[in-house]
Amino acid sequence: MNKFLSKLKDYLCDLIYPKHIKCIFCDEELDERAKNDTCVDCKSVLPYITRPCLRCGKQISDGVDLICFDCKNKNFAFTSAHSVFEYSGIIISAVHRFKYSRQKFLYEPFAEYMCDKFATLNITPDIITSVPLHTKREHERGYNQAKLLARFISEKFNIKYMDLCDKIKDNPSQTELDFKARQENVLNVYKLISGVRKEIKDKSILIIDDIFTTGATTNEISKLFLEAGASDINVLTFAHAQHETKY
Ligand SMILES: [Zn+2]
Ligand SMILES: [Zn+2]
Repeated sequence: MNKFLSKLKDYLCDLIYPKHIKCIFCDEELDERAKNDTCVDCKSVLPYITRPCLRCGKQISDGVDLICFDCKNKNFAFTSAHSVFEYSGIIISAVHRFKYSRQKFLYEPFAEYMCDKFATLNITPDIITSVPLHTKREHERGYNQAKLLARFISEKFNIKYMDLCDKIKDNPSQTELDFKARQENVLNVYKLISGVRKEIKDKSILIIDDIFTTGATTNEISKLFLEAGASDINVLTFAHAQHETKY
């Protein structure tokens, strides 16, 4: 699609879905009690993560464990990952509309939720970055959803935003793969952007993405940053797609 048509489509979508007027989940008109473009009814059923695993951010059941069953057998390169919501209920269709139905404007309320979460975390990144899309995919979609979220958060907290890596291989979708297959699928897919090495050295980096699934992608990118001398890496996503493994 050429640039003009893509812009026109964005404009028309903004007209159809005017911001701050309707609830992003149910389309009802908002009143003064609404926050982050969400009506009171929808807010009451949002699947907030209230008891996260300290490594991957997944919701875990009450008990003594602070780390989920999966994380006990995995060693992520990042220090911790955090998500606002479980990827369930009304979150799923909203994320689909954001990623696949050109409802680009959703990045603002989504990012507001992520800002609320970030403000509660005890992390102080020097640099915020996002998981890159392959150029081909970004052109198809017209935007990189993770980068829109990351830029919004970086501006709100006055933290430097930088693109740090490129996706150099258009690997198959991760959707149907388990963690091990995903790990292989993301090998040599990302590459550090030339010249950023000196920027990363001894810096704390926050990686932003829309969904945390197995963590294979953010783990791979974290390894690149650590190899380049980053001091530590944390991850923040809008939603977390894995459910607790019972054992
Ligand atoms: Zn609603
Ligand atoms: Zn975990």
